Amino acid sequence: MNFSDFSLHPKLLRAVEQMGYTQPTPIQTQAIPPALAERDVLACAMTGSGKTAAFVLPILQRLLEGPRGVTRALVLAPTRELAAQVQEQFEQLGKGTGIRSAAVFGGVGMEPQTRAFRSGVEVIVATPGRLLDHFQHPYARLEGLEVLVLDEADRMLDMGFLPDIRRVLRHIPKPKQTLFFSATMPEPIAELAKELLSNPVTINT
Ligand code: AMP
Repeated sequence: MNFSDFSLHPKLLRAVEQMGYTQPTPIQTQAIPPALAERDVLACAMTGSGKTAAFVLPILQRLLEGPRGVTRALVLAPTRELAAQVQEQFEQLGKGTGIRSAAVFGGVGMEPQTRAFRSGVEVIVATPGRLLDHFQHPYARLEGLEVLVLDEADRMLDMGFLPDIRRVLRHIPKPKQTLFFSATMPEPIAELAKELLSNPVTINT
């Protein structure tokens, strides 16, 4: 299996090459085709498996078509470090596409994040608590949202974020596609996945 076996846009293939990725990892091989086909995905995947690119590439491909200037993808992540890393992969793999992304997490000023919402960055990668702070304001309505990703869902559970995640879900329109990543599947996470996903492709690596 090679990256060129996926029907990825040449710009994305070029970015993959520039990152020095030669072969897709097992999670990428299994998750990228159904995600590109706009299916929901439930993936058991550890950090270091290449799971980030497994959702970043199909999302970028989707965003290449359709409107710009509206937030169409939202990634929820447990920590600011992970949110920053994921956003960096959107930047790196989305180089040359003009698709913009922003990281939204606590411990830093609201203002640059507010500007990102207002400018309609196509991708927001957020920790749940700070995202809820923004949801107090009308600029953060995310009415054009298409894709939702839960990254490291089990860690979000461990950190006590499940109620915040449910609050976030009440604020956003029902996504057209949901991609759900977790290293383990404790019962509350399995339940959440069942609620959020329709007819998902399930992947165990
Ligand atoms: P992740 O599991 O998404 O945190 O990725 C772990 C590391 O693997 C990151 O530094 C990625 O840049 C890198 N990586 C992701 N996909 C590949 C690939 N196909 N080949 C080589 N490295 C990769």
